[in-house]
Amino acid sequence: MSCDFLGLALPGVQELSPYVPGKPVEELAREFGLDPAEIIKLASNENPLGPAPMALKAIQEALPELTRYPDGNGFALKQAVSRRFGFDLSMITLGNGSNDVLELLARAFLAPGSEVVFSQHAFAVYPIVTQAVGATAVQVPAREWGHDLEAMAAAITPATRLVFIANPNNPTGTWIERAEFEAFMAQVPEQVLVVLDEAYTEYVTADDALNGFDFIDRCPNLIVTRTFSKAYGLASLRVGYAISHPQVADVLNRVRQPFNVNSLALAAAAASLEDTAYLAESRRANREGMLQLEQGFRELGLGWISSRGNFIAVDLGREAAPVYQGLLREGVIVRPVAGYGMPNHLRVSIGLPQENKRFLDALARVLNGE
Ligand SMILES: *Cc1c(COP(=O)(O)O)cnc(C)c1O
Repeated sequence: MSCDFLGLALPGVQELSPYVPGKPVEELAREFGLDPAEIIKLASNENPLGPAPMALKAIQEALPELTRYPDGNGFALKQAVSRRFGFDLSMITLGNGSNDVLELLARAFLAPGSEVVFSQHAFAVYPIVTQAVGATAVQVPAREWGHDLEAMAAAITPATRLVFIANPNNPTGTWIERAEFEAFMAQVPEQVLVVLDEAYTEYVTADDALNGFDFIDRCPNLIVTRTFSKAYGLASLRVGYAISHPQVADVLNRVRQPFNVNSLALAAAAASLEDTAYLAESRRANREGMLQLEQGFRELGLGWISSRGNFIAVDLGREAAPVYQGLLREGVIVRPVAGYGMPNHLRVSIGLPQENKRFLDALARVLNGE
């Protein structure tokens, strides 16, 4: 009988389920004997347009330097972020994806006994980074699939160190109104750090939408995270960042791996920020694709959760797992969200018009039992 290695892990780690990513195209091709070129993946909220042309050019130019370590301070990218949004370099923390920043926050500020508040149906990485360091996750029931900020404020205790808020939230697509957030921040004690995860903010088109950057100067305990994985189309390169009080950035910098963002990611991200035509086209394509999917769901008699992201959770009104399997057989990969407490929903990323159509046609066939 060998040693019980699981039993040696932190209790919080023993209770964790590993993050389940969207099924890769190659994996489905292998399992079902399908041609990868015939498969569409609408499962990981990736930008269907491919990377920004300016990012690809920057990567080409950076390739000969691959033998060198990247700039551990990410100076050029921080400068690009600073130019674009007006924050001092001392307020910027770069991450290997914004998930890296979430983990740095957990590692730097949490210990066993610390409590972390987040919402039911919120992003799966929040419980992972919390429990990985032995802290206690406090999950607050959602209201109409979205964050109930009043209940979240009420869940804060003297042991609370962090609050995670996703706006828009993944996988629900729900959002928080500016006034609601303002009222929330007024209630949170200053020693509780509030992490506003804005991974999808570039897709939000409403003029009066909540923008965490507007609150940074007035709320020293606010940390806003953003990513290049979604609207900027660089999911595979892994690069994101946080804007925070300089002292919070200093703390994160102490626990960060020295070279956590690679040189191609640094170059591509800085170039993407300049590619405003690409971003505008990504937003336009997303708006159109969202309308196309909503129209398709309407025709199929299905409900959905209104979304401001680049994805939408459709309500099948029955267990979604068999429908997910049926779609796989059709060569269409979407995302089951039973693990998020949503067994009747599937999360579908907005694709190109022809991909959205293929998904809707396949969904109609699967639902009709064809
Ligand atoms: C995709 C996503 C992220 C971004 O992850 P990266 O590590 O930057 O790729 C962060 N938060 C939420 C809610 C997401 O859905």
